[in-house]
Amino acid sequence: MRKIEHIGIAVTDIEAANETYTKLFNAPPYKMEVVESEGVSTSFFMIGESKIELLQATNEDSAIAKYISKRGEGIHHIAYDVADIHAERERLIGEGFQAIGEVKRGADNKWVCFFHPKSANGVLVELCQERSE
Ligand code: ZN
Repeated sequence: MRKIEHIGIAVTDIEAANETYTKLFNAPPYKMEVVESEGVSTSFFMIGESKIELLQATNEDSAIAKYISKRGEGIHHIAYDVADIHAERERLIGEGFQAIGEVKRGADNKWVCFFHPKSANGVLVELCQERSE
């Protein structure tokens, strides 16, 4: 793993959260994107070299909707940048981490995959690799 790529925050109202975080950072999101396959609407803020992703559910079956109904708004995942997502996913599975699903297209031009929070002391792990195409 090369660095923390972003931190994901689950929110109930992304428009309101965008306003709050625009005030916090004194800069608007550089990107907003709906990932229909994941049932999320996202926005991304850049703070120096760091990124924050806000996520709002677009339907009740979304992982974000389930997360918020259980735990409320808050930090949802930490995403780590990797050079080879398939190799790193296999390595973590070999180390006993519990993968959630396969590698898939995520927001912000990334390949992404996830590992269960139970595997990592209560924090959902996202791996992401920049898509080249
Ligand atoms: Zn993310």
